[in-house]
Amino acid sequence: MKRIFGIVAVAATLLLVSSKPIGKDQESVASDYLIQAVLWYQSSPEMQALYLQGFNMAKTNLVSFVKDQTDKPKVVVVDIDETMLDNSPFEGRLIHTGKSFKPEIWKEWSDKAKAKALPGAVDFTRFAKSLGVRVIYISNRDTSEIAGTLKNLNDEGFEFAVKENVFFKTNESSKDARRKQVSEKYEIVMLIGDNLSDFSTVFDKRDGSSEYARLNELKSQFGYRYIILPNPTYGDWEKPITKGCKSELEKYNARKGKVVGF
Ligand SMILES: [Mg+2]
Repeated sequence: MKRIFGIVAVAATLLLVSSKPIGKDQESVASDYLIQAVLWYQSSPEMQALYLQGFNMAKTNLVSFVKDQTDKPKVVVVDIDETMLDNSPFEGRLIHTGKSFKPEIWKEWSDKAKAKALPGAVDFTRFAKSLGVRVIYISNRDTSEIAGTLKNLNDEGFEFAVKENVFFKTNESSKDARRKQVSEKYEIVMLIGDNLSDFSTVFDKRDGSSEYARLNELKSQFGYRYIILPNPTYGDWEKPITKGCKSELEKYNARKGKVVGF
């Protein structure tokens, strides 16, 4: 029995250290690329410290922004997933089942309404409330998920988690139209998210290079009006890397091929 374990261990090690693309017979490991990112997200105090750092910075900035004269009431716009709520158990399910993102698996997770609040997130909404600043949630969750998400947010203790403060995806992923809609009534003084598209429409389209130039143009906003939080598990940053891939296997190999070594 020991010997079988030994052979399995060696085979697994060879699979992991191989620099060659993986083939169809190894397709079950196509979601293994998520292991380290999800582990970091779930098991490192550094991840928690980064969230706390982001929300502490947001609080400090908000104290100064409330002093600004504005015609409209001030609001902070926040994203939900991997900004206020931790969906890493969903990613964990993908790892343990060897599956890729599927809307039905997401719905199964989302319907539970059991995502935990991220460090500092609830406290930030309470702090904003204490300053008289509303928090608006702009998320690319589907509008069919509003009721469950509001339950989840309220169960976790978030302020402002009522229907009038949530703007979910209807027909487009870009959040620009929803930000403009919010701006008709409110002055957006700060935005918080884990994806650059949570801040500005200039990041909606990516090709793997021009977004860096746009980022540079907006660099003074980060840590100021824009508070970005860490999410190594997924995001629009992946799109240029896996563009054109037709299967999870192709994506796995494209990711591996993109890694720079020496
Ligand atoms: Mg997000």
